[in-house]
Amino acid sequence: MAEQPDATITRFAPSPTGYLHLGHAHSALFAFNAAQRAGGRFLLRIEDIDPNRCRPAFEVALKADLAWLGLAWAEPVRRQSEHMADYATALERLDGLGVTYPCFCSRKEIADEIARAGNAPHLVAMGPEGPLYPGLCRHRPRAEAAARVAAGEPHAIRLDVAKAAALTGPLSWHDRGRGRTDALVGLLGDVVLARRDVRTSYHLSVTVDDALQGVTLVTRGEDLFHATHVHRLLQALLGLPVPDYHHHGLLLNDRGERLSKRDGATALRELRDQGLDPATVRARARGKMMPIHEGCAMKER
Ligand code: GLU
Repeated sequence: MAEQPDATITRFAPSPTGYLHLGHAHSALFAFNAAQRAGGRFLLRIEDIDPNRCRPAFEVALKADLAWLGLAWAEPVRRQSEHMADYATALERLDGLGVTYPCFCSRKEIADEIARAGNAPHLVAMGPEGPLYPGLCRHRPRAEAAARVAAGEPHAIRLDVAKAAALTGPLSWHDRGRGRTDALVGLLGDVVLARRDVRTSYHLSVTVDDALQGVTLVTRGEDLFHATHVHRLLQALLGLPVPDYHHHGLLLNDRGERLSKRDGATALRELRDQGLDPATVRARARGKMMPIHEGCAMKER
């Protein structure tokens, strides 16, 4: 089928931190099939911003596993670590809007502050994945923060979500599973846009890349549903197009639990080594699904 100018473009965006398992196969097939059905294009993106956890060998392995499954993707493959300048540009733009601030807090300081505030539970804002950043650096005088940055103090950059929301007003997106979905932009609090060690973050790089790659339909697991609320806010701030989203259910293992990379027995290469053929593995990847809305806890990133 010839591709239409307004064709559906989907993507699979794994992080090369381990071998792909059946859950990844489900996700990749979901995106691939959505593009195929629409006569569109399926892209592969390597989300390798974390140099401590990502390994080139896992990228080689995941491409081999996807090809073995029968998936073909349009070139070029985008590797996030090669596009840090794009994320820096986006960050500058957000900074220019006055919706970012440097955060000097260590993990321990944040945990201690949450524990302190925990004695007065009404002071701890809870998100769907736990307590939100308590805002220690949010109201630091700008001059003080700038001096500390200039002195080379390690810091992350956070989004001031309240200021950002005041700029954009209410937002929504079209979710092919849920229909029109209102963005609860503060759901994850003042998220990190640039980490101390890596000058971007999952939220920033994914949002920028989906736009730069012309992705029209973002398909991904239900575990990333909360992230979409934040991505919608970043799109509005950065003036980026809004793709459709479709959050798919999560595959369960035999014990009825969510699959993880620790479920070694479901690694695609292990199944291949056991002699299973791609069609059988594709069928298993359609497997037993967690009902939608129950798999929302976002994995650690
Ligand atoms: N890189 C993310 C992961 O492996 C997926 C990002 C996305 O699909 O938005 O969990």
